Amino acid sequence: MHVIILGAPGSGKGTQSEKIKDKYDLFHLSTGDMLRAEIAANSELGLAAKSIMDAGNLVSDEIILGMVANKVNSLNGKHMLFDGFPRTLAQAEGLDKLLAELNTRIASVIQLDVPFDAITARMLARGREDDNAESIRNRLEVFSKQTAPLIEYYQQQGKLSVIDGLGDVDEIFARVTKTLG
Ligand code: AMP
Repeated sequence: MHVIILGAPGSGKGTQSEKIKDKYDLFHLSTGDMLRAEIAANSELGLAAKSIMDAGNLVSDEIILGMVANKVNSLNGKHMLFDGFPRTLAQAEGLDKLLAELNTRIASVIQLDVPFDAITARMLARGREDDNAESIRNRLEVFSKQTAPLIEYYQQQGKLSVIDGLGDVDEIFARVTKTLG
């Protein structure tokens, strides 16, 4: 069972992912965490990604798909929870192709639905380095333009479940488990 958690930045994907991966024994693959680890390690990839991330723009599909493919291939078939990936149609198509080559596929896509005004308040409270007002505004715009089309992509594949992402963490998790079973 490979699962994608989809939602705008600040919609609670990271928090729900921690609980989902524990309950369903999934490998939590967060491209944001992987990129932050590259930055912390001062790698070439991290260096290239940092200014893009600080501005709230997307790192190139080629870099992301390469990074994800390496990780997926190293996991030897372990079931995965994709968090913050895919973020573009090209990434979604690349992921489908990668999984098909491994004779597997995405089972379920959970979309956390949270209104943008609630998201902005949450992100300002979170206080991560890229959580300043300008970067937040840009990331929400990037989400609307580049990532929101994935909602229809997975709807057409019959894999999408929309979950109300407002409320407390356990309440939202209960909605998720009702969907995933
Ligand atoms: P996140 O922790 O998922 O909010 O990601 C933080 C930042 O990392 C994003 O604002 C992007 O700059 C970058 N990033 C993370 N995942 C991706 C992805 N799948 N595609 C492009 N950029 C990404």
